[in-house]
Amino acid sequence: MVFEFVTHHGEHHHDSQHREKTQEEKNQQIERLREQVGEPGKDLTITQLTQFLEANGWHQDQAKEQLEATLQWRRDKNIDMCPVATTKNGLPLLVCVRGLKYIEDGNIHSDPRLSETSIRLLNYLGGDCFHKFDKEGHPILVDRMGYHQAKEIGSDVSGEEVKHFQVACNEFLNRVIMLEASERAGRPIHKETIIFDCTHMGLWQFHMSGLLKLKQVADYVQSYYPETLNRLFVVNAPSAFLVMWKIVKPWLNLKTLDKIQILGKDYQAELLKYIDPESLPSFLGGDCTCSHMPGGCVPSVNEGRIPFLVKTDENEKIPSVYNKSIMDAAKTDINLRQVSE
Ligand SMILES: [Zn+2]
Repeated sequence: MVFEFVTHHGEHHHDSQHREKTQEEKNQQIERLREQVGEPGKDLTITQLTQFLEANGWHQDQAKEQLEATLQWRRDKNIDMCPVATTKNGLPLLVCVRGLKYIEDGNIHSDPRLSETSIRLLNYLGGDCFHKFDKEGHPILVDRMGYHQAKEIGSDVSGEEVKHFQVACNEFLNRVIMLEASERAGRPIHKETIIFDCTHMGLWQFHMSGLLKLKQVADYVQSYYPETLNRLFVVNAPSAFLVMWKIVKPWLNLKTLDKIQILGKDYQAELLKYIDPESLPSFLGGDCTCSHMPGGCVPSVNEGRIPFLVKTDENEKIPSVYNKSIMDAAKTDINLRQVSE
């Protein structure tokens, strides 16, 4: 989940010179896009079609091109068959979760169904948690960026393995978290609010090869999951972050930059404009402590709040996030792929 801040096709700039389109014009474009992609897109929701148009500044041909490439990729890679954790199927989590209904509060932990790849990668991540919702109903993802083992992610995890992991996290976000967010809000929600906490960050995390790998994966993933960012707050940003930011900033388009706020130590009031205190962890200036859960609101193995995951012979050495038997079972068992009754 660390890659979402590098969003969108860089070349598709928001066309701000043109006047805002009316809702009627937008509706016409949405229906036209549905007709253009034909049979493969027949089950797409208005929200999904809108995401592709918005990401391309409402340029019809570019939106069609990106959507067709995405549908083709989903067919080629069998993405619809990818398993996602729900309360009912009890699959092990790839991201910690707090305050939802469709998936019980839980932490990442050792589990024989995870692949060896997932265990290795999760032990290098600083700690991620889908933690409740913001005032507008977007799910909040908190990422303990300062605890990422960036060097190991760069050297000991392949680009292919990171892509599998990121896609699995995006499918979980869309099929479980966004589904609940939309039901809760009574309107379609397809964007998340992200908080990157830089506490503990240092130049030791700064590796150009790691950053470039991150960019490759980000470009790949964002081609297929457009318009998923609501706001991004970087908090406790030290000078080491500003070094990295100088490199990353030119990769982003203006529309994305508009959604990003980089804040130092005085960020609490800004976060509380968008997030109620009961939904914001106390270490970020809110009231929530999640004292019912080991590790509290956003546990981190690298901070020592929850145990490192332990590999056994049962964790298979394959790039997918779960063992092959789980990946295969999901092809026929719908309960492994979606929230169901
Ligand atoms: Zn909490």
